[in-house]
Amino acid sequence: MLAPAAVLLSVLAASSAVPAPPKALAPAAARATEALLRRHGEAERGRIERGVAQAAAFWRVSGPQPDGDAKAFEAFCAEHFLPRGPALDATFARLEASFEALDGHTLEIDRELSRWAQLDLGPLQPLDGLLDALDPSAHVTDDLFAGKVAFVALLDFPLTTLDERLARGEGWSRREWAEVRLANRFARRVPAEVNQGIARAAARADAYIADYNLFMHHVLSEQGERLFPKGKRLLSHWNLRDELKAQYAQEGGLARQRTIAKAMERIVTQTIPASAVNDPAVDWNPFTNEVRPAPAETIEEGKPRDRAAPAREPDTRYATILANFRAARAADPYSPSAPTHIARTFDLQREIPEARVVAMLEEVLGAPELRALGKVIAGRLGRPLEPFDVWYAGFRPRTKRSEAELDALTRARYPSAEAFAKALPETLEKLGFSPERARWLAERIEVDPARGSGHALQAARRGDRPHLRTRIGKDGMDYKGFNIAVHELGHNVEQVLSLYEVDHTLLQGVPNVAFTEALAFVFQARDLEVLGLAARDPEARRLAALDTLWATAEIAAVGLVDLGMWHWMYDHPGASPAELREATVRIAKDVWNRWWAPVIGVKDSPILAIYSHMVNNQLYLPDYPVGHLIAAQIEEHVDALPAGKTLGEEMERMATFGAVAPDLWMKHATGEAVSSRPLVRAAARALEGT
Ligand SMILES: [Zn+2]
Repeated sequence: MLAPAAVLLSVLAASSAVPAPPKALAPAAARATEALLRRHGEAERGRIERGVAQAAAFWRVSGPQPDGDAKAFEAFCAEHFLPRGPALDATFARLEASFEALDGHTLEIDRELSRWAQLDLGPLQPLDGLLDALDPSAHVTDDLFAGKVAFVALLDFPLTTLDERLARGEGWSRREWAEVRLANRFARRVPAEVNQGIARAAARADAYIADYNLFMHHVLSEQGERLFPKGKRLLSHWNLRDELKAQYAQEGGLARQRTIAKAMERIVTQTIPASAVNDPAVDWNPFTNEVRPAPAETIEEGKPRDRAAPAREPDTRYATILANFRAARAADPYSPSAPTHIARTFDLQREIPEARVVAMLEEVLGAPELRALGKVIAGRLGRPLEPFDVWYAGFRPRTKRSEAELDALTRARYPSAEAFAKALPETLEKLGFSPERARWLAERIEVDPARGSGHALQAARRGDRPHLRTRIGKDGMDYKGFNIAVHELGHNVEQVLSLYEVDHTLLQGVPNVAFTEALAFVFQARDLEVLGLAARDPEARRLAALDTLWATAEIAAVGLVDLGMWHWMYDHPGASPAELREATVRIAKDVWNRWWAPVIGVKDSPILAIYSHMVNNQLYLPDYPVGHLIAAQIEEHVDALPAGKTLGEEMERMATFGAVAPDLWMKHATGEAVSSRPLVRAAARALEGT
């Protein structure tokens, strides 16, 4: 039975993915709708109204490259709208095949152009960087709109909001999911100048954070002592944080940690003297905030100064964030189904609603296990916790075998990339794939010697192969390189399965990066088994579970600060950098006081706002804790496989489900939607053993 038109209409009205046509096109859209209704009848009313509205929303009647006038729009609708039936099926199949070819081949071109820059193929030529920077896919979406292919997709297939995908997606067929992915590719038509503005702001932010160093020999303790060796130059925030972590294992580390933490606070509050940044000729005491010329013999580079200016950094950090925000906001009008940057990162990229992400992060932060773990850490340190202890790094297990022993083993076994490639079938069998499946997978993975550290490069069309890039030293693959290569192999196996074995190539891949990372970690954690050594020891796993809870809670709070800052900017689009600084410090302290102060026992720390990602990575930070949750959930699932099920079969079952919504993928994989519970459960079990 066909749904009555009234039902279709109410569904349509509830769908905020269908925008109202622009004024100039409204009469033409109404005429096109009427004409199509006369031709195809009431049964197609829902599809007609939605399709015409979707196409009209993106059609440009004026501007530098118009798509055509109102008459042309009407004619286009008449020619390209297809009722359900064989012609629509054929159109769907052609678009699916065309996008696979387009995406797959542009990816291959990109890979070929960058091979000299990325692979260990002899001396670099000046040309290599230029070829590497070319992106053959940069204008594909623009061209698909200009060539009107995008309008066929918008006219005939549904745009959806995340709410619709979540509310109704479980009942959709695979073909319906593929149609959703097909149309969603065109959910945004952002003009080139807006994209250029975003890229310019991002490039400025990158440059700002890439050149923000402290010369630590000149960052003094509260008593004015030099605690750090000459020449130590630390980039904010990554190197500062990593140095802070490393100091847990150092004699006298506490004073250095307090000094770094104080410097971080000064960066967040922008009370840091501008002269203390990037200058080895200026001594700075972050406690008193005094600056003075450094004695000549302490200076690493450059000339001694006569004086050091005490003026603080003039809120450059927050001016940079605001510039990024304004550039991102300029894209809002061109993204009707996700009309803010916040909505785009949650609804289009993560595909988990903001409220659910926040709730999951708060579950981790509010877990009684976190407070219990805080007590364990304070006990291990033998002192009350301080705010920088959110970066506690003492849960590293002692390994049974020395790194040198493992290096010798992997170097002998994998003297070259070819040797690693040749061993792939055997490696995959050790990871739980049948001999036939292991061979089949190995035939579809290309191994390359990389210049940098390892990475996995997907393929996007059948017939092409994912690439595993691995770093091989002169004397063969060391253990660290091997461990990374096994991680990358996890990506490659996911990539082969989710491309070759998925039923629709429009659904190739996994829902988002966190999922492929989780599958890669499953492999990486079993690297010793590949070497024929004993499986992971239980104590190492116990410590890892504690470390994961602590690290996830830390980055969850950081994510909440980032999110709070973005909401504040949307609420105050005209704010000055100084106002944004005040708001961000307040938000960071609020998040701290609510979640971390009860664990650490100290109030009002702004330290969570130190992450450089807040400056240049536009709301990426919440992805980290969500990634930890997804990894823990998959790990828990594969750890408890029923007898008779191998890891290989289970990987295949999970990976071939394709890029549906994350919750659906996870339900299919583990029986439960994405959740914080497995991670907290693992920590609770680990705590029982402390
Ligand atoms: Zn990875």
